[in-house]
Amino acid sequence: MKIDKFRIAPGTKVKLGKIDPADTGDYKNHADAAQRQEELLARMRELQAKLYAAKTNALVIVLQGLDAAGKDGVVTHVMSGLNPEGTRVASFKQPTAEETAHDFLWRVHPHAPAKGDIVIFNRSHYEDVLVVRVHQLVPKVVWKSRYEHIRNFEHLLAAGNDTTVLKFYLHISREAQLARFKVRLDEPDHEWKISKTDYAERELWDEYTAAFEEAIAQTSTAEAPWFVIPSDNKWFRDLAISEIIVAAIEGMKLQAPKAEVDLEEIKQDYAKALAEESPENQIKIAKLVKKKEKSLKQAG
Ligand code: AMP
Ligand code: MG
Repeated sequence: MKIDKFRIAPGTKVKLGKIDPADTGDYKNHADAAQRQEELLARMRELQAKLYAAKTNALVIVLQGLDAAGKDGVVTHVMSGLNPEGTRVASFKQPTAEETAHDFLWRVHPHAPAKGDIVIFNRSHYEDVLVVRVHQLVPKVVWKSRYEHIRNFEHLLAAGNDTTVLKFYLHISREAQLARFKVRLDEPDHEWKISKTDYAERELWDEYTAAFEEAIAQTSTAEAPWFVIPSDNKWFRDLAISEIIVAAIEGMKLQAPKAEVDLEEIKQDYAKALAEESPENQIKIAKLVKKKEKSLKQAG
């Protein structure tokens, strides 16, 4: 898949209306993409293990989009390809009184990933130039000034802590949103997602679109790019995001860390420990080692 087509180059104006939310690239349907999706999840698992072992880089994945765009769905999908050790999700809801009394990045920074870790932001500091702008929760000069703070913050993560920052706007059509609202009403398992504000927010579609367009144009940088992901089809949304994550971790050129101990010395310790075992146990251990090494080889 050509992932560059979804990346917003720094300094470009974004017209979301010109981007097809139902685009599926070269794929015809879900079944057509299934094999690639499996490969990507397997690769993601390997790469995350490397990232966790190397502890030289970090990754933060920012998810934004209108209600029902699929942020929770992406979290579930991406997490299915990752080991819980070294991975976290940070969800940003309505700020508490204490959070509101601080600068807008105060509640975000503690969730930035440590080296070796991956953190998914389900909503993020971008809410402070999106919902906050649309509902005029702060004066215009305040939210306008935040683009620069965001660029600086993401520069700190990227340049100051080797963090790759990937930002995804899940692009859906108005029709897809309404259809998903209906499913929430029809399916008991989805009811919990219904919010009283869903329809009032939908009325503000154009205001949100303008806010997203400006936020993306102002903050898509080489070190922290935005990707606009066609998201009317869940399977394509998940596939495109997986491709981008895999490419990003591959781009880190991670090195497996070398053992910090003297391996020759440890080999002697092992030989000594083995010699202390009975001859029967020595045979048992040799068999167990063979079995373990064979299964490791099969797992690749
Ligand atoms: P959900 O993600 O559906 O659980 O909803 C979380 C809600 O919190 C959304 O309506 C967001 O717009 C809102 N929210 C998140 N961050 C902020 C913020 N900084 N200021 C105001 N509302 C926010
Ligand atoms: Mg919601």
